Amino acid sequence: MSGSATGGRERRGPVIPERIRSLTPYKPGRPIEEVERELGIAGSIKIASNENPLGPSPLALAALAGALAGIHRYPDGGGVVLTEKLAGRLGVDPRRVVLGNGSNEILELACRLFAGPGDEVLFSADAFLVYPLVSTAVGATPVKAPPRGFEHDLEALAQRITPRTRLVFLANPNNPTGTIFRRRELETFLAQVPDDVVVVLDEAYFEFVDDELYPDGLAYLDQHPGLIVTRTFSKIHGLAGLRIGYGVTSLEIADAMSRLRQPFNVNLLAQVAATAALDDDSHVEASKALVRASRRRWALAFARLGLEAVPTHANFVLVRTGTGAAVTEALLHRGVIVRPMDAYGFPDHVRITFGTEAEDARAIVALTAVLEARAAKRGTGSAEAAQ
Ligand code: PMP
Repeated sequence: MSGSATGGRERRGPVIPERIRSLTPYKPGRPIEEVERELGIAGSIKIASNENPLGPSPLALAALAGALAGIHRYPDGGGVVLTEKLAGRLGVDPRRVVLGNGSNEILELACRLFAGPGDEVLFSADAFLVYPLVSTAVGATPVKAPPRGFEHDLEALAQRITPRTRLVFLANPNNPTGTIFRRRELETFLAQVPDDVVVVLDEAYFEFVDDELYPDGLAYLDQHPGLIVTRTFSKIHGLAGLRIGYGVTSLEIADAMSRLRQPFNVNLLAQVAATAALDDDSHVEASKALVRASRRRWALAFARLGLEAVPTHANFVLVRTGTGAAVTEALLHRGVIVRPMDAYGFPDHVRITFGTEAEDARAIVALTAVLEARAAKRGTGSAEAAQ
């Protein structure tokens, strides 16, 4: 605006707080359409966002079709039908369940509820990037504990709890490493957490874990009133685009979160689809089976290619390809979208989401070709040299 229109004063506009200006925005996987338009290619596959390659539950799709004509109405603000059904399945009091616009919203609500300027929010340095984002957004100080290899180090986390720590985020399995911690580690950790520190146990990939010693966070809710367990319909149920997840916690925290959230935070279609998806055991089982098969397929491929992958318990795998950004770019040109991991501090890795048999086969062929081309360029003829 010109000086004359403002009486000679220069208009500066509102000041964006420094902590917000300096936030690194979360960089999601790129939409297939955008990549294809940019590169002038077609028929790409996206194995970059830990989505369910089987698609949504057919029961959810049928329920959605029946609900479309009703979207001029607001959704049920309390999400009563879904909450009761979900609570029944989980074996918890429905008043302890909070629905969210993706489980991301529950992570954010936890920060808004418990942390602010001067407070510390603690998590592992290799954990999901939304944790630093939501803690910084509320003015709290994010504190990172060093991981043990590619795993959360719960001892290191416990040691970093200070009188200022208000909240700890734990991802089990973690994204992007796919690693888990087991019952004994969690129990030892929880025993050390002071009563007034909230622990958010993020179980977005809960359903994919087969390990016998993997803890079910819900089992600890009664002993730890400061525990919030989060899960989602985005992964196993294939409803990522509708944005619906949930938290299970104490009556007090659930009540406080419900006061803080927007009145209609979970949209009508998401509620309808999630309610139907809960009945679709065969879709859930097929999704798990697909991930197990894909895990084996990729393990064989990595062994053949001489690549080091982090042993994963989720529907994706972190693999060391050497210069992840360049490998990602080369794969894009072959119509395969994966995720570079620079933002997580793993510049030599890419993260690959497990796909259908056909998608995996295509991605493995493309990765093989990319690594061979990189090795040839270096003139050694070996994939290892490309690292
Ligand atoms: N936690 C972890 C560890 C995740 O990887 C994700 C999805 N990327 C989420 C939470 C959030 O998922 P949503 O908001 O779709 O439920």
